[in-house]
Amino acid sequence: MSQEGSTPVVIADPIRFARDARVLRGQVAVGRLGRLADQLFDASGSVAWELTGQAGEDRKPRLLLAANGTLRLRCQRCLGGLDWPLALSSRLLLVPVGQEIPEEELEDDEQDAIEAAADMDVVALLEDEILLALPIAPRHDECDVPRPEGGDSKKSPFAVLAGLKAGAGPR
Ligand SMILES: [Zn+2]
Repeated sequence: MSQEGSTPVVIADPIRFARDARVLRGQVAVGRLGRLADQLFDASGSVAWELTGQAGEDRKPRLLLAANGTLRLRCQRCLGGLDWPLALSSRLLLVPVGQEIPEEELEDDEQDAIEAAADMDVVALLEDEILLALPIAPRHDECDVPRPEGGDSKKSPFAVLAGLKAGAGPR
């Protein structure tokens, strides 16, 4: 069996990673993203990610983090499971440890500044970025508030039929 998804992914020197334009990719089970647990209906599925190092024309080291997957969030209306497509694309400016983040970077909406600490944990970084991207109050486009009798949110086929008859009306 593959160890992928259970071994920690660590970047020893993030600034060097950026300057060398290295690329790392992997896949992580949603269950491993522990800080997301409160927002999830269940921990099914996995997230595919790709981290690209970049030293732009301004010679500033950056990481580009892209991630895709489907998370099962909890609908805030019916409390049921809600498939939410994750499509993350973050630009992260690497600031050397001990250096202050320049003010203009804090005001920049296009990118976030992060400390370029040694042995950077990629999964923790991924968790940070997913938490920022999650909707505050996820809801189905259409859903029923659960009724007191029976917790099943699905309509019975008879109710659907009755609804169709009522809606069609006599001609
Ligand atoms: Zn719902």
